[in-house]
Amino acid sequence: MPSQKIKKESCPHVGEMKITTSDAKKCEKCDVATNLRLCTSCGRVFCCQSHNAHNEEHFKETNHPIIIPLPTGTPLSWIWCWIDKAYLE
Ligand SMILES: [Zn+2]
Ligand SMILES: [Zn+2]
Ligand SMILES: [Zn+2]
Repeated sequence: MPSQKIKKESCPHVGEMKITTSDAKKCEKCDVATNLRLCTSCGRVFCCQSHNAHNEEHFKETNHPIIIPLPTGTPLSWIWCWIDKAYLE
């Protein structure tokens, strides 16, 4: 992923973050079980760019903008917006 960072306030999609936790243990499309990404719009869980990039595929299918890493930490280690193509800080 590119490493651009923007302020959280600059991302108009933050309000679409509804779900920030999941018990899922693997990508729902390919069974990859590491470096999972949680879609905060719908709570579905997919693998990352270094596996089969199913999180990006989900964004292209649904336009759900924001993903976070799973398992989620407190505070979140990062937040990624697909539309802004940037980490939010
Ligand atoms: Zn955004
Ligand atoms: Zn996958
Ligand atoms: Zn989604």
